[in-house]
Amino acid sequence: MVRAHKIRLNPTPEQATYFKKACGTSRFVFNWGLERWREQQALQPATGAEGFGPARLKAEFNALKREQFPWVLEVTKNAVEDGFRRLGSALKNYFDSQNGNRKGSSVRFPRFKSKKKARQSFTLDYERFQVEGHWLHISKLDRPVNLAEPLRFEGKLKWATIACEAGRRKAKLQLARFQERIANQRQDRIHKMTTEIARTYRLVAVEDLHVKGLMRNRRLALSLADASLGEVLRQLAYKSTRLVQVGRFYASSQTCSACGYVNSKLELSERRWVCAACGVLHERDWNAAVNILQEGLRLAT
Ligand SMILES: [Zn+2]
Repeated sequence: MVRAHKIRLNPTPEQATYFKKACGTSRFVFNWGLERWREQQALQPATGAEGFGPARLKAEFNALKREQFPWVLEVTKNAVEDGFRRLGSALKNYFDSQNGNRKGSSVRFPRFKSKKKARQSFTLDYERFQVEGHWLHISKLDRPVNLAEPLRFEGKLKWATIACEAGRRKAKLQLARFQERIANQRQDRIHKMTTEIARTYRLVAVEDLHVKGLMRNRRLALSLADASLGEVLRQLAYKSTRLVQVGRFYASSQTCSACGYVNSKLELSERRWVCAACGVLHERDWNAAVNILQEGLRLAT
């Protein structure tokens, strides 16, 4: 799961200049690559996206940059990479759209990026920055950049996009978007639970619930999705020493675990019920679990 976090930056004038340079570098690289690509196409019309080699263009650029574009060395190399990455996806989207490999409205052929565009940005990958409380550390910047607020989420930061918003004249307001992958805590809990079960019990009986079928029932879908039932079963299947699946048509909820009477009128909303035959009061889930275990033991022998 990727979450985006948008935070205003309060850069010093030097840092604001740095960001402008980095945004400018990304834009310049995009335009340079697009032009080179078009030149190549004019010389030998290639077949769509295959004719485009972002890696080759990047290598060509890197070979030239020290001599021809030394100013790109003043900012993080992510700015250059970002320009090629954006060009690559712009061209890919265009060709995919042409070839019918992309859903949605058709995508235009990429156009040169204008300097006058209100919003300019560049993206840093996780190796190039760090966040500590109210401070953003970026490689090649002497001092950390102040954040208007700290991160609200836990998790690993994947990348940061720094956008320079023009207008408001001095472009003081800077926006950063952090993408983070939140640690999958639920997955972790499920793993711990299934490991514990597999270690403690030699035999585990589970109801072979038709998960996909149940998910189609909107009332059930929410609670089931939350419990990640399918994932629990998958893990139990490979962790358990002995996993017995009880058929999904076995009436585990309706059957009285004490006497075997089947209460076919039991509604899903009834969490407790009294057996009409033997008078035992049942907790719905507990009763079903006892039945599943008994049926599982029967199938296992
Ligand atoms: Zn009974």
